[in-house]
Amino acid sequence: MKILVINSGSSSIKFQLIEIEGRASLGKGIVDRIGLKDGLFRFAPAGREAVERTADVADHRAGIAVVLDALTDHATGIIRDPAEIDAVGHRMVLAGPSISGPVVFDEALVRLVERHTRLAPLHNPPTLAGYRAAAEVLPAVPHVGVFDTAFYATLPARSYVYAIPYEYYERHGIRRFGFHGMSHQYVSGRAAEFLGRDPADFRCVTCHLGNGASVAGVKDGKPVYTSLGFGTVAGLMMGTRCGDVDPDVILYLVDTLKMSATEVRTLLYRNSGLKGISGISNDMRDVERAADAGNARAALALEMFAGSAARHAAAAAIGLEGRLDALVFTAGIGENSPRTREMITSKLSLLGVSVDREANAVRGAEAVVSAPGAPVPVLVIPTNEELMIALETRDAVLGGRDALARLGQAGGAPTAS
Ligand code: AMP
Repeated sequence: MKILVINSGSSSIKFQLIEIEGRASLGKGIVDRIGLKDGLFRFAPAGREAVERTADVADHRAGIAVVLDALTDHATGIIRDPAEIDAVGHRMVLAGPSISGPVVFDEALVRLVERHTRLAPLHNPPTLAGYRAAAEVLPAVPHVGVFDTAFYATLPARSYVYAIPYEYYERHGIRRFGFHGMSHQYVSGRAAEFLGRDPADFRCVTCHLGNGASVAGVKDGKPVYTSLGFGTVAGLMMGTRCGDVDPDVILYLVDTLKMSATEVRTLLYRNSGLKGISGISNDMRDVERAADAGNARAALALEMFAGSAARHAAAAAIGLEGRLDALVFTAGIGENSPRTREMITSKLSLLGVSVDREANAVRGAEAVVSAPGAPVPVLVIPTNEELMIALETRDAVLGGRDALARLGQAGGAPTAS
């Protein structure tokens, strides 16, 4: 069974074709800078040389057409006909608390996602645009929405209810949702497997540190803690998002500085985080370079980023009730920034966590980065949200067992290219 996984951002479409029985990536790529000048297309068929070219792509519809052309291209393609695609799995973010697993798309689901756009303004519009475009060119196959929030459907009430009057939860559905579910689910399961442990008896803290960032506590395959909240801005400081701020700051922006809701949203979602503190960039590589060159605000941004991740990792560890079997780093920064890993773990020595400088030099590969014999192993596990999405999509289309359980049976790392 071949599943096309689509992850649409505001100006990009990432795609990957996965052959589900072998958990094998047949090829993956990205249409980047959609709607902008100097658009870029990259496609890497598994085991062959990647194709890269400029591609001015007006919108997501045109982007999906480029993807299908590449997949079926007679020279560089990996399938002969779009009919070989059995289902499409779309990475989705938020459609409210009724979502507890993968859902086959229909108009009702589209409306539900639209209704929750206010809480995920950076994510819901582009993911829906990607779905609409793909459904138009592949109308005969099932399209499945796999939601970042679904992993958290089993969070206990004490972890998702806010301490505001209870009727705001009951009447208005104001609660913590949690995001990056596919990633935390994958890396926690894979970390157990990597250490030769049973995922059903394994307690870990997972740090997804990318442009968006969050920490989860995962006990026996189920989340007990998430740093993310009602929307996608809470918890850790991120690339452009502020993370936790005192609600009084927001009241001050509105009451005293007379900022509108739209202005406040833009400030908190787009102009804060690494970008807002460093004044340089939301990209960790730029911020690290600037700090090395002596820029004090860039150095402050690094300190704040590590501090917020460490605080939430400690909080997540509390949720594990007395046992921490591993601390896991993933996503762009977590996989590739030894400095950030060292800064975070150095604040967590109380938990028995530290890195070994030599082992911690690793970038983008599965590894134990703590010293041999350290009380709590620290791991780098490159995330594979696409594989989780493909497994969940298969479940939704065919019915089947829990995706994580099947991941545990896969016997080794999936063969993603
Ligand atoms: P993601 O959202 O998971 O794609 O992660 C993007 C983030 O990862 C950006 O802030 C990048 O700067 C960061 N990143 C990627 N490669 C590196 C690297 N070699 N060193 C530090 N940060 C990196």
